[in-house]
Amino acid sequence: MKPTNNSLSQLGTTIFTVMSALSQEFDAINLGQGFPDQDGPEDVRQEAARVALEGPNQYPPMMGVPDLRQAVAENNRRFYGLDVDWQQQVMVTSGATEALTASLLALLNPGDDVVLIEPVYDCYLPIVELAGATAKMVRLTPSEWALPEADLRSAFSDKTKLIVLNSPMNPTGKVFSRDELTLIAELVQAHDAYAVCDEVYEHLVFPGAEHVPLMSLPGMADRTVRIGSAGKTFSLTGWKVGYLTGAPDLVAAIAKAHQFITFTTPPNLQLGVALGLNKSNDYFNTLAADMAAKRDRLVAGLERVGFDVLPTEGTYFVTADIRPLGIEMDDAAFAQYLVREARVGTVPVSAFYPQSGPTNFVRFCFCKKPEILDEAVARLEAFLGA
Ligand code: PMP
Ligand code: GLN
Repeated sequence: MKPTNNSLSQLGTTIFTVMSALSQEFDAINLGQGFPDQDGPEDVRQEAARVALEGPNQYPPMMGVPDLRQAVAENNRRFYGLDVDWQQQVMVTSGATEALTASLLALLNPGDDVVLIEPVYDCYLPIVELAGATAKMVRLTPSEWALPEADLRSAFSDKTKLIVLNSPMNPTGKVFSRDELTLIAELVQAHDAYAVCDEVYEHLVFPGAEHVPLMSLPGMADRTVRIGSAGKTFSLTGWKVGYLTGAPDLVAAIAKAHQFITFTTPPNLQLGVALGLNKSNDYFNTLAADMAAKRDRLVAGLERVGFDVLPTEGTYFVTADIRPLGIEMDDAAFAQYLVREARVGTVPVSAFYPQSGPTNFVRFCFCKKPEILDEAVARLEAFLGA
């Protein structure tokens, strides 16, 4: 038999699926894969249910239903002062994953270079490679997950077509500062490149940090694609409703990929999400405040257990250094050990380094009910505590 696709056949199953399956097998508390254990707003779900019953249920427009595209444009204005024409600059996708895939396939040619930042979210590199492009990795430095300027500068060249930027960042919880974004913007413009910005955690930013879209920096509006996800903003990760904003020419180019990947997204879910995006600021503030409280609760517990917990300013996640526990295992072995023995699922951070990288960090997800976080900490304490 002839071989299947070379690039895909070398890949394993994503770490999120692997750790969720193990959590289920060992009846563990799953703090691995990032999904909330409480579904998002009831009115959003009711709207989706109503539309499923009453219609429309046939193919919606390829670019997305107007109500949702208008709501995305309104959010861009309300939260970031971005002036966006919903008809030319907004497209709905089936999750942020599809938005990323369509953007990369639309922008890249074989032979292009793409700058990626490690630890890197798992789908970026496989898509870059499927497009025939070459990744240039820049590695953040723990424990502050600092962006090394010299390394970033040397990753850019005239071959650079784009950078993929994830802020707030999975798995580190880093929110890129305005100074860091200014440096990235300078390099993107100096090399006539684009930026594909994965901002799915835009509304999960904690007190003291501010999310600034790269798109809002001078000179970047024409070069940036900004991607959001209803999964994260409305605690509905299974819905797979995403949206992207960009300059008209870029959105038109990306629509050509989208039309042959999914073409469209279920209309009832789109209309539910439109209702959600039109909610008052209270909703968005409460979402972030509730998540910050969950972070504080889990971080305090992990510190009691003896982990060295790294700072996290946003997302669902916190990373923790396992070395202070005095356990002679790498992160992958430790994650296996924890899920089987302590019955707590995590994700080893080495999964976010495609070649090789640090092996002393695990990622914990804190978008869970307080009593679940407490129970997870109690299990860890019983197992690892001093
Ligand atoms: N980007 C990042 C950084 C993520 O953590 C996730 C995960 N859920 C996604 C993209 C995918 O989002 P979606 O489920 O909307 O495809
Ligand atoms: N983004 C989620 C995480 O980081 C997982 C999404 C997935 O399982 N594909 O945990």
